[in-house]
Amino acid sequence: MGWNNYYLKIQDILVFIQNLIDKYGENIKIIQISIFLLLVTLITILIIYKFKKLLENYAYKDPLTDAYNRRYFFEKIKKLPKSTNSLIMIDIDHFKLINDTYGHEMGDYILKELIKLIKVLVRKNDVIVRWGGEEFIILLKNVDRNKAVKIAEKIRKKIESYNFKGIKITASFGVKETKDNITTDDLKILDQALYLSKTKGRNQVNILY
Ligand code: GH3
Ligand code: MG
Ligand code: MG
Repeated sequence: MGWNNYYLKIQDILVFIQNLIDKYGENIKIIQISIFLLLVTLITILIIYKFKKLLENYAYKDPLTDAYNRRYFFEKIKKLPKSTNSLIMIDIDHFKLINDTYGHEMGDYILKELIKLIKVLVRKNDVIVRWGGEEFIILLKNVDRNKAVKIAEKIRKKIESYNFKGIKITASFGVKETKDNITTDDLKILDQALYLSKTKGRNQVNILY
């Protein structure tokens, strides 16, 4: 096909487009406006979604470790469907000494790194909460006491063997299985189980009932 023919073909296409615009011009404008409005709507939804996530992050998360805070935990357990769940409470052993020996910044690094380690060992929808300074609670949904103790033991071993920039740490654990709703009594018993781990020599998992 020679250049002349190409030229004629292009001209044909242009004429065809021109005819289309002449014939459906108004409709094309309406389609363009619709697409534009759709895009604006989608972008607005995206911005609102991102903003909501950002606000939730501020309201429900601990900025240092990215774990959830107590407020989130209490809201979450209110809405939790009635079933058997388990709680693990973790408290780093002699953390004050670690801070005093290696400095507060190193302590902060250990807290952040610890949450990263735990995240890998639990499921995505389990809830990791920074309960206090160096205390954490993990809510394991639909997990019974036996499974929970195994998970706690796995986390304990991981912490014990992990190298935190040359520093070794251990942690003590309490476990409590909860039926139906999670109550303040459950939290008390969970705390007692952890306390037992501390008094029995630390770096261990205990469950009371
Ligand atoms: P135990 O084995 O009995 O748990 O001893 P411990 O020293 O860990 O317990 P204690 O409760 O006396 O000390 C907790 C320490 O945790 C004290 C505080 O300096 C440290 N801590 C709490 N929050 C933070 C934090 O955000 N960053 C750092 N670096 N340290 C923190
Ligand atoms: Mg503590
Ligand atoms: Mg401690």
